[in-house]
Amino acid sequence: MAAVLVYSEKVETARELVAGGKELGAALGLGVSAVALGPGAGAAASELAAAGADTVYVSEDAAFEGWPADAVAAGLAQIAELAGASVVLVGSTRRGKETAPRLAQKLGAGCVSDVNSLVAEGGDLVAGRYAFGGATVAREKLGTAVKVFAVMPKTFSAEGASAGAGAVETPTLDVSSSVKVVDRRAKEGEHVNLDAAPRIVGIGRGFNAREDLALGDQLAAALEAVVGCTKSLADFEWLGEDRIIGLSGAKTAPDLYLSVGVSGQIQHTVGVAGAKLIAAVNKDKEAPIFAMADYGIVGDLYEVVPALVERLKSV
Ligand SMILES: Cc1cc2nc3c(=O)[nH]c(=O)nc-3n(C[C@H](O)[C@H](O)[C@H](O)COP(=O)(O)OP(=O)(O)OC[C@H]3O[C@@H](n4cnc5c(N)ncnc54)[C@H](O)[C@@H]3O)c2cc1C
Repeated sequence: MAAVLVYSEKVETARELVAGGKELGAALGLGVSAVALGPGAGAAASELAAAGADTVYVSEDAAFEGWPADAVAAGLAQIAELAGASVVLVGSTRRGKETAPRLAQKLGAGCVSDVNSLVAEGGDLVAGRYAFGGATVAREKLGTAVKVFAVMPKTFSAEGASAGAGAVETPTLDVSSSVKVVDRRAKEGEHVNLDAAPRIVGIGRGFNAREDLALGDQLAAALEAVVGCTKSLADFEWLGEDRIIGLSGAKTAPDLYLSVGVSGQIQHTVGVAGAKLIAAVNKDKEAPIFAMADYGIVGDLYEVVPALVERLKSV
């Protein structure tokens, strides 16, 4: 049977893709297989089998260490043929974005990247992706027999996916990478994983100076939240790129997103569209963020944030 094949080097994203792949596969009459690659991939394979993939192809080949795009694309192409895949969903992470077009080239497939919606319509798949810097959404179909979609994390939810007990297969792959890793260095500074954060305080240009960001930190500490930011603050190098939320950064789905001094431009808010509750502090009552917020405070953050911190400390 033709299959939907899913892959991401991030297990959580791969689980989401298994759930989404099952939904799409059911509409198109396709089974769902998953792939786990790299040293230690066996553990991920078990998770993906339990998440409902019919078959999980796993390879712990050392060539996949660090997931170099050329080796991963070569491995995925061989597995796609084994699995008889007509649709391949790759997590649109930084590495996934590099891998998907290389894979498509090897399979003679069309490719859409940065997909943030994928639905089955009339026996085909229609992908949605932001275009013109987020000002509009393009809906795209692929005319090739094999189709590759690089799907953004959080496009599908792994929650409530039916559990399964898929088979695990270990194919022999012929892969190598022309990338030679000569050194690995940890990035400097503190790092965050916004994707997984249950609470996020998102800060923006409403802050006048870098040292004022301490206010955001205090609010985050009082809420046991992680600080994320708009691209503007990362462009100023006030915070690292891993804090950016939006089109150019993390797509988050926290229980709470509290924005402070953020205007709410679409390029930012696409990164919080999955938040369960959105609250905003902004001194401009016309700020677009209020249109999507469940709760809002119109006021100067330099007065509102200290008061909020004070109140939160007392509860
Ligand atoms: C291709 C492309 C990709 C992009 N990707 C991203 C992305 O991934 N993420 C992202 O965030 N942006 C992205 N951007 C930039 C985006 O368009 C906006 O410019 C950016 O999000 C605005 O950041 P901001 O809200 O911090 O600043 P502003 O838009 O300047 O808003 C600042 C807000 O703070 C309020 N404010 C000012 N002073 C105070 C105060 N004392 N108290 C309370 N409120 C105050 C103002 O009323 C205003 O609403 C992208 C742009 C492009 C073109």
